[in-house]
Amino acid sequence: MMRMTVLASGSKGNSTVVASSRTRILLDAGLSCRELLKRMAAAGEDPARLDAILITHEHQDHVHGLGVLARRLRIPVFITEPTHRAWVRMLTPRTTITYTQWLEQRKAEQAGKAEADSSASLRNDKSVVDETLIPDLTEASLESISAEAEEEDAPAEKAAKTPLTHLPAIEFFRAGSNFSIGDIAISSFTIPHDAADPCGFVFEAEGIRIGIATDLGYIPTNVKQALRRCDVMMLESNHDLEMLRDGPYPWAVKQRVMSRVGHLSNNAAANFLADEYDGGAAYVVLAHLSESNNLPALARVSAEQALAERMNLLGNQLRLAEQSVPLEAICL
Ligand SMILES: [Zn+2]
Ligand SMILES: [Zn+2]
Repeated sequence: MMRMTVLASGSKGNSTVVASSRTRILLDAGLSCRELLKRMAAAGEDPARLDAILITHEHQDHVHGLGVLARRLRIPVFITEPTHRAWVRMLTPRTTITYTQWLEQRKAEQAGKAEADSSASLRNDKSVVDETLIPDLTEASLESISAEAEEEDAPAEKAAKTPLTHLPAIEFFRAGSNFSIGDIAISSFTIPHDAADPCGFVFEAEGIRIGIATDLGYIPTNVKQALRRCDVMMLESNHDLEMLRDGPYPWAVKQRVMSRVGHLSNNAAANFLADEYDGGAAYVVLAHLSESNNLPALARVSAEQALAERMNLLGNQLRLAEQSVPLEAICL
């Protein structure tokens, strides 16, 4: 038997337990450690029995409680190397520099070089701005993240000054590769999203397949292929286009959400469900609904119309994952 329990879904935090009878994986840790433990308790999931944490990408709504939770439970984190690097960079602002600082450093270096070597060594200096060195969060938000993370660490850990980026064990996987955790076989697939190396996953054990694809600007061929033959399919249904256009977000953010590396609209999800989805899942779970730019009723109606008569007691039962409370476990 396999079980999927969505603990939280949406732009304020994402986390889902995927379990076989022998193995339990937490997919993303996008709430604080304390809140994750609370949700697991509410959903009847024992945190002590988790075997690993698996990460889709480094956005805050997917990694917020990662370090603290992994350290507290002493379990390995499965992550791609670029995602890990981006996460570390996010949490260690002092080792990164802003673009302005970088320019100043380069100027200082070049002045030093010019002094040391009067034969114009700058001619060979072809270095370019390493975008990866520029932190992608403001210092204010970094400070609040660090403060909260520290606050949640055990006192002993705090006293020992454990770095925020310390993880008990890291298992790197390559985006697009297949691997297993315990008796759960995992196929990872890349998704189009504005993160370092974002992934979706299909989990398979005991003849049951669970496919999860959220945080994607559109559904490319590799994702369509990955989502074939799923028994449970969790798909993003982020925003209603009209609500997003007329909503409160600044234009630049609206453009980002709508872009090919943003989030999937109700329409895009419905088009996939109507035209390309194989119809074989027992459950279709709509996920990562925006609280500002969507309404559960809009997402539901749009998916219901797309699934139409294929929805019945044996197949395509529709569920909506929620931000504030865990979804009732889906067991197959
Ligand atoms: Zn997200
Ligand atoms: Zn994201």
